[in-house]
Amino acid sequence: MTTSSAPADTIGLDAFIAGLPKAELHVHHVGSASPRIVAELAARHADSKVPADPDALAEYFTFRDFAHFIDVYLSVVDLIRDAADVRLLTYEIARDMARQNIRYAELTLTPYSSVRRGIPAQAFMEAIEDAREAAEREFGTVLRWCFDIPGEAGLESAEVTTELALTHGPQGLVSFGLGGPEIGVPRPQFKPYFDRARAAGLHSVPHAGETTGPETVWSALRDLGAERIGHGTSAVRDPRLLEHLAEHRIPLEVCPTSNIATRAVATLDEHPIRAMVEAGVLVTVNSDDPPMFGTDLNTEYAVAARLLGLDAAGVAALAKNAVEASFLDPAGKAALTAEIDTYTKACTAGA
Ligand SMILES: [Zn+2]
Repeated sequence: MTTSSAPADTIGLDAFIAGLPKAELHVHHVGSASPRIVAELAARHADSKVPADPDALAEYFTFRDFAHFIDVYLSVVDLIRDAADVRLLTYEIARDMARQNIRYAELTLTPYSSVRRGIPAQAFMEAIEDAREAAEREFGTVLRWCFDIPGEAGLESAEVTTELALTHGPQGLVSFGLGGPEIGVPRPQFKPYFDRARAAGLHSVPHAGETTGPETVWSALRDLGAERIGHGTSAVRDPRLLEHLAEHRIPLEVCPTSNIATRAVATLDEHPIRAMVEAGVLVTVNSDDPPMFGTDLNTEYAVAARLLGLDAAGVAALAKNAVEASFLDPAGKAALTAEIDTYTKACTAGA
């Protein structure tokens, strides 16, 4: 797709990406509901305003603008009404991931929304764990959880999310996040909740610097103990911050198409991913809310390959960044890295 000397020329870079074993670190639960999954959920709830017919649904998923995206997102949230819905959504997301050769994913869940809707905490946890175990057994995709605070719902949601993580935290839970709008939602107020989550052994992975400047990323590092940054798009405006991220090996979870969809970046060609890489920052590529932004992880890798001018070896290195930046244990990291190397070697042999 980019350079004529790409060793994957024999199969093409898109095919190389499709078959490449990958890890995904920034992807949301409800935001991963594909039209296929939404149709299944809508069929369970006949009173929903979401169409169950695939053609009508495809039309429904064609976003006109960001406000329309929020409408669709909320109408999908409205379809997650009981533990069986949660289980179905989670398991089917894993199926979609396996089709893209995503071997490991840290999926961001917002349990506050489900519990507020009346799904008992214990039933929610059992549903996601049951889906996680089935996904690993049947698709070979390993799932881990990030519980995130919906920042727009304020400190009450922070308290509930922390309680859910600490008292009901399922086996697959590895990290603690913060999402929602950055403007008007100051980060330092969430410090006590992150302190508690981190003390309980959870990793800190807040969104920061997506729609606000580098000061929000600094705040995520200083106040929330961020070990990875969700987006961090505006970090490139502060050379000292880039230096800090590079020096401390704090990865960025970059989601190019999402940044365009939300207007965080005007066009893909203006995306700062190259500046991040050139500054020595550990960059990972992710899909955020893939069907809602009309993308998937393979497409995001192709986008990154184009923006960074990568050949197959470069794309494989990007995939290995995600493994390194993940919260897999050392043996899991070594195994997935070896899988990437074996695949890359097989594809590029003789090229
Ligand atoms: Zn996100």
